[in-house]
Amino acid sequence: MDIPRIFNISESAHRIHNPFTPEKLAALGAALRLEPGTRVLDLGSGSGEMLCTWARDYRITGTGVDMSGLFTQQAKLRAEELGVSDKVNFIHGDAAGYVSEEKAGVAACVGATWIGGGVAGTISLLKQSLAPGGIILIGEPYWRQLPATEEIAKGCLAHSISDFMALPELLASFGRLGCGVVEMVLADQDGWDRYEAAKWLTMRKWLEANPKDEMAKEVRALLDTEPVRFASYTREYLGWGVFALMPR
Ligand code: SAH
Repeated sequence: MDIPRIFNISESAHRIHNPFTPEKLAALGAALRLEPGTRVLDLGSGSGEMLCTWARDYRITGTGVDMSGLFTQQAKLRAEELGVSDKVNFIHGDAAGYVSEEKAGVAACVGATWIGGGVAGTISLLKQSLAPGGIILIGEPYWRQLPATEEIAKGCLAHSISDFMALPELLASFGRLGCGVVEMVLADQDGWDRYEAAKWLTMRKWLEANPKDEMAKEVRALLDTEPVRFASYTREYLGWGVFALMPR
């Protein structure tokens, strides 16, 4: 069981697999006013940077579940590196339907809401692991500029314009799902560059090391097209943020 291999190739050097920078991740942790000892559950925890740095900086404890074997291994190494292996636990597995035994003060899904079949399903899933008074974190894209055509949405790698909402509509939608928005931290274009442009050098180096790999053709094609696609579409049209919600 694993995620499509292209992600394990293109994001192998990423610590944060979304448009957040280390500064934004720290700002989010500070914004939540985490008490030491708060339990954090993270579905789609990637390489574990959120749990590991928050364990170091805010003394939370945490569990992360992720379907990438590579990212989960990197998360464990990062925990050792930061000296928080006794505070955080990373599980390699499918997070769909994952409910923690001990309830969490923060239940998160940051940039992986397909795990619950979309934002609504993910909020319902996270609620099942949430302690009374706890906070749900959802990391999700929104339209920074509404695309004028479906072509533009496809250029952002969305299936259609209706995949995402503009920011006010996204915030309103959380209300309709029974949640109040109590905090948010938004990514910016520099953060998008760190997420997307970092893939290019990683792919280039991978290609040099693996010229005969069955994925080489696909990776070479992405290297040719991704910079212009990203600058034309994702960087201009898509926003991304983490939204802190409390059930009403
Ligand atoms: N939250 C992390 C990772 C976001 S990228 C961060 O912000 O850095 C999306 C992550 O979801 C990837 O790490 C991918 O491996 C993971 N993923 C995809 N499908 C999954 C599933 N069904 N269960 C658990 N993790 C999944």
